[in-house]
Amino acid sequence: LMQLTKKLIEIRTMLLSIDQSDALKLPSIVVIGSQSSGKSSVLEAVVGHEFLPKGSNMVTRRPIELTLIHTPGSTTEYGEFPALGLGKITDFSNIQRTLTDLNLAVPSTEAVSNEPIDLRIYSPHVPDLTLIDLPGYIQIASMDQPDSLKEKIASLCEKYIREPNIILAVCAADVDLANSPALRASRKVDPLGLRTIGVVTKMDLVPAEQGAGILSGNRYPLHLGYVGVVCKPAGKKGKRESSMEAAERGDHDYFGANRDYFGKSSTLMVGTDTLRRRLMEVLESSMASSLHGITNAVQLELEEATYQFKVQYNDRRISAESYVAETVDALKARFKGFTTQFRKPQIRAKLKEMLDEKVMDVLEQLYWLDKRVPELGELANDPKVKPEEVEPYWRHKLDAASSLLTKSGVGRDSTLLVADGLRSLIDSIAQGEPYTFHPRAAERLIQFSHMILRDRIGLTSDQVENCIKPYKYEVEVDDREWEGGRVQAVDLFQKEVEMCETKLKEIRKRVGGSRRLTGLMGYVKTLEEQEKEKKARRLLVPETDSEEGSSTQSEVEYRYPPAQIMDARHAMLYSDRLSVLKLRLAALKSKRCKAGPANDVLCPEAFLNVVADKLAYTAAMFINIELLDQFFYQFPREIDTRLLYDLDRQEIVEFARENPSVRRHLDLQERKDKLEEVMKQLNSLSTLRPDPQPTPRRN
Ligand code: GDP
Repeated sequence: LMQLTKKLIEIRTMLLSIDQSDALKLPSIVVIGSQSSGKSSVLEAVVGHEFLPKGSNMVTRRPIELTLIHTPGSTTEYGEFPALGLGKITDFSNIQRTLTDLNLAVPSTEAVSNEPIDLRIYSPHVPDLTLIDLPGYIQIASMDQPDSLKEKIASLCEKYIREPNIILAVCAADVDLANSPALRASRKVDPLGLRTIGVVTKMDLVPAEQGAGILSGNRYPLHLGYVGVVCKPAGKKGKRESSMEAAERGDHDYFGANRDYFGKSSTLMVGTDTLRRRLMEVLESSMASSLHGITNAVQLELEEATYQFKVQYNDRRISAESYVAETVDALKARFKGFTTQFRKPQIRAKLKEMLDEKVMDVLEQLYWLDKRVPELGELANDPKVKPEEVEPYWRHKLDAASSLLTKSGVGRDSTLLVADGLRSLIDSIAQGEPYTFHPRAAERLIQFSHMILRDRIGLTSDQVENCIKPYKYEVEVDDREWEGGRVQAVDLFQKEVEMCETKLKEIRKRVGGSRRLTGLMGYVKTLEEQEKEKKARRLLVPETDSEEGSSTQSEVEYRYPPAQIMDARHAMLYSDRLSVLKLRLAALKSKRCKAGPANDVLCPEAFLNVVADKLAYTAAMFINIELLDQFFYQFPREIDTRLLYDLDRQEIVEFARENPSVRRHLDLQERKDKLEEVMKQLNSLSTLRPDPQPTPRRN
């Protein structure tokens, strides 16, 4: 029969790990009593060791779920805190210290916490029992305790003394039972005392006759009766006496000396041994009578969980490990998919785009601001001029432009351009699902990808810079390349023309039509001329007062809103740019430019485009070798070694559970598994099941 309690205690522990709902609870013995009633002494006598926190100031602040596991045949005794993962603790003073720490961790402003401490004790000397030790009732809160403490403790106890738990009401023999908060609380929920055992402590402090009177229970009858104990006898204390020995001595001395009242012929229950047996009997019969109800409840819960698992997940099982593996695979696949954006042609096109801008800058700087630029167009359209007869001025200009382009930091800029592309690719992966659920993994992902890039950037940009060096001195262009460059230049210029025209159109609309714009521009032109004149005059006569200048200016500008003046200035820039662009476009389309690279001096745009093409090609080649190949090789390997594979089992579970949908899936699956296991165990008990009869009182 003892097997049944043991099994049911195991099942109780499993059920507690499933959930805390009352429906799935097997009974436990809840120990209540006022402070100093001898509660700890009783528990320690039952366990046989001193292990509870000691001290005058409210040392029990959290419920202790104490599970005793009888281990016959074994010689070791030890405790375990499953939630802490400290392993087996064989030294009971160590258990005491841990419990003290756990209790003191509750801030004194809160004083009590509802969160139970799970402690299991394995020993050949303990019975199979589950006991819950609660903070002792207090009469008056001391100075440093909150006023609400009394109510807080009472409501915590109230929660635990509900059905189906058994109440162990601890009262001291030297205090009137009428004043026992434990009995008062129990009477509220169990008026007939059907599930309350009274424990009367400190029997040695009252005369035997009075003690026997209390135990007979005539004044406050309890169906399960009272047990009298002497756990910590007053007077001399044996040297290095264990709790068990002290209780044995106390019981023996007191009850032995008063055999008339408590001897064999008496029906009173006395002694720690009797108490222990009584607890076992009562718990067992209570467990046995809960068996039917709990089996039904588990069956119902299991059916519900099975149904939900089918409906929500189509019975698909997952594990934290499989989730991690899938996440890694998906990341690699995603990354691989993205790498197509980084093939050589794509990189070349990107770099060319960047170089196109540089070409435009160089052209603007060296040609478009040059007053003589229209001459170039005229030369291009004049069939009589031979290329070698063109003024050296233009040859120098072209050399300068080509060199400016090649020396503009192409190595660094192109490497950074590609590296930034990779970086934002990784960032976009890290910012998307499922990494939104895994911020630490996302951070690691970003960290190591940036690290790989950092390691390669310097080297790559040096390498690119080195390889384009020859173009700084000489660029050879064949006919095919020339025509390609020319077509591209035409294209580029056409786009630029469109851009300028759009801008002008916008401005025209903003200021209110082309007439108005022409007026504005004329006005701004005169303004600029006046300013120039003024500047010239100031240069001639420096002491001229600046006051006059500024007053004239504000006076004139007053005629139009400043925003429109600004628009007019921009419009002038755009139309100047437009006229140059149109001139150059015409030149680029001329017979002369079409004829080939011999006319490079007359068509610098085509030439620079060819140079840009060559630079882009070379840069792309070396960036591919030095940066991309390395990155694409290293990144998946870093995923393996740094992202997830160095996690231990617990970290893997934590990682998987960061994802809410995975967490829900795992929770339901686990719940179903546990319920199945409990159900299996419950079914296997049917052979052990006794008749569910309440244990009668022994007297
Ligand atoms: P708790 O506050 O309810 O846990 O009470 P304790 O177990 O700490 O006991 C309170 C005090 O009563 C301690 O000083 C114990 O030594 C003393 N005490 C406990 N049991 C007995 C007993 O059976 N006889 C006597 N004389 N004193 C006891």
